[in-house]
Amino acid sequence: MSTVNTLRGPIDSTQIGTTLMHEHIMARNPELEQNIVHPEYDEAAIFARARKSLTSLHEDKGIDTFVDLTVLGLGRDIPTVQRLAEGVPLNIVVATGYYTAKDLPTYFHTHGPDGLVGKTLGGPDVLEMMFVEDITKGIPRTDGVKAGIIKIVTDEHGITPDLDRVYRAAARAQAETGVPISTHTNVHFANGRDQQKWFKANGVDLERTVIGHSGDSTDLDYLKELMDNGSFIGMDRFGMEFVLDDESRVDTLAKLLEQGYAEKITISHDAGFFSINTPPSWRAKYTPNWHHHRISDYVLPELRKRGVTEDQITQMMVVNPVQVLTGDAEATKAVAAKVLGP
Ligand SMILES: [Zn+2]
Repeated sequence: MSTVNTLRGPIDSTQIGTTLMHEHIMARNPELEQNIVHPEYDEAAIFARARKSLTSLHEDKGIDTFVDLTVLGLGRDIPTVQRLAEGVPLNIVVATGYYTAKDLPTYFHTHGPDGLVGKTLGGPDVLEMMFVEDITKGIPRTDGVKAGIIKIVTDEHGITPDLDRVYRAAARAQAETGVPISTHTNVHFANGRDQQKWFKANGVDLERTVIGHSGDSTDLDYLKELMDNGSFIGMDRFGMEFVLDDESRVDTLAKLLEQGYAEKITISHDAGFFSINTPPSWRAKYTPNWHHHRISDYVLPELRKRGVTEDQITQMMVVNPVQVLTGDAEATKAVAAKVLGP
């Protein structure tokens, strides 16, 4: 596999380019929003702001590909993303998967393999079927937009029975389709360890996983352990300073690069243009640096000040995304030969 599914169809590994590996456009909750009208959800204004920012990311900052990890549980709505992205000169990779820290909705219980409805229907788990079909057939209501990555979560509750089911569906979909798995973790619970343990026990190749939100940690031993085991880590919340300040994030990343880990790290912001959970006015006031330009405007200059090389930056932002998204070592080598210095 050396192509990657995007909003506008598959692209070749050579077209992936400089990539933000964990972002969001919007995080919503349709049921809540039908009943609690959010005063800040002004579609025209949000679309205008997002289009301007995404266009500038490409034209001014050289970002070519934006991976939107908004999945079910975060209000995934790809037809709306398609409308928003009209005319935006960026590749957008969309995801399948499920965002929940603990439980799945009742629908998945009644339709589970042993559920009231599911056991009468037989066949594969609806969750697994959804993941696979999002990747192979296309996401409903989109005219065939296919997901390019699977996103799953663990947080304070660990891998609960429902999450175990999500993980099983993700593992099977990964094996069947070859797309990678990208995770949410809470570093205070070192969830990366449990995730790797689960993946190993269930036959998931760690090389095809990104342990997300690892950049919330400054524990070099923990981070190196995750990479030594084979996973990529996501230093993917630059700007989210209410969790950890950017100076600490940059210092930690620079240390890992100095110790030779450039080939195992992806970088991103986990930012968005609208979230019902932390709305734009709140973000503007309390976390003003959390936006999609933060890496270009602040993080890269700070890394250079700490002696990080252009090749290390290119490795993280261009080469590693090819390896993660395609899993194709030959394609990655070809891109690396083109973009890295001699
Ligand atoms: Zn995220």
